[in-house]
Amino acid sequence: MTIHVMKPDLGSEEAEAAAAAVASGWVAQGPRVAAFEEAFAASIGVEHGVAVSSCTTALHLALVVADVGPGDEVIVPSLSFIATANAARYVGATPVFADVDPTTLNLTPETIEPVLSERTKAVIAVDQAGIPADIDAIRALCDPRGVTVVEDAACAAGATYNGAPAGRAALLSAYSFHPRKLLTTGEGGMIVTNDDALAVRARRLREHGMSVSAADRHASGGVVLEQYLETGFNFRMTDIQAAVGLVQLKRLPAMVAARREQAARYQALLADLPGIITNADPAHGTSNYQSFWVLLPEGCPVSRNDLMQALVAEDISPRRGIMASHLEPAYADEPHIPLPVTERITNDSLILPLHHEVTPDDQERIVSVLSSALDAGVPG
Ligand SMILES: *Cc1c(COP(=O)(O)O)cnc(C)c1O
Repeated sequence: MTIHVMKPDLGSEEAEAAAAAVASGWVAQGPRVAAFEEAFAASIGVEHGVAVSSCTTALHLALVVADVGPGDEVIVPSLSFIATANAARYVGATPVFADVDPTTLNLTPETIEPVLSERTKAVIAVDQAGIPADIDAIRALCDPRGVTVVEDAACAAGATYNGAPAGRAALLSAYSFHPRKLLTTGEGGMIVTNDDALAVRARRLREHGMSVSAADRHASGGVVLEQYLETGFNFRMTDIQAAVGLVQLKRLPAMVAARREQAARYQALLADLPGIITNADPAHGTSNYQSFWVLLPEGCPVSRNDLMQALVAEDISPRRGIMASHLEPAYADEPHIPLPVTERITNDSLILPLHHEVTPDDQERIVSVLSSALDAGVPG
């Protein structure tokens, strides 16, 4: 039986909630989306949640409401899913790649500083693989310069930063509910913020810039004529998705606790392999272990791709490490500073299977396949 890298943890409770939304007749954005926004914002400890169709649209919308546009530069880590960099291009701005810290895989003030310029309007700090970025330190650099910090918390639901839920330290944060993440609604995303005006504008823009939402018009019972105040988008989440999200949100603490136990087991098993670095909690928070990555030592005699091949031959499905956007054809023309840490991590790391059905025996088998492949590659 194949051990998959990831599997969404969805059960009968989610199925029943989705069925109830369908039976209610309200399937587009409606009361369940409103309830999910409120519950999600409360779980993070922020004033506002604005549900959208994905984290990609959440990042796009966050930059729109932060007034980022043509002529502006947005500093992003190259080491991220490509949607982070794309968000800058959607608003006509230029993504500027920064390198990352080798232990957290995140931006830091030290990696941002070399690419700050007069044109820098925003920084998108990613909580990579669920490891929270040190947003307060990044804001200490950016706030005095008038640079907006947006948190790409796509992977971070259930992670903590300075003892509180990750995602509330930035002006605007964007979460993903794609099945690759811990909390899923099939597709979906959420912007959270404590800023009333930004929330109002994001809420309006995700629904065509309408002055009155369809749900409010329906609830009013009378005749309400809407206006279209600016050019908006259709970035809405459906009530079917929100119904699933409400169940997933309730289950999130238990899902994170289970992940953290599995991660600790991987860490203990991998501690015997010389030179291997694994992801771990940073000093300023806790990871939700959405993904578990392994970084090979420098000069490792076995290549990352050969290790992946050894796992695949045993019906174990790993993934390459986190991608580097600057190496993709879509960004080939974008000038950038040298990004040595990003390149080493994207080339020399791999992601091991981690989801609710991965058993302790599976983990032992995965690590023993890795161990044998590494031994076989060591000469003499
Ligand atoms: C998954 C991911 C995204 C995109 O999320 P979608 O909901 O699929 O649009 C953006 N940024 C990061 C860091 C991600 O991991």
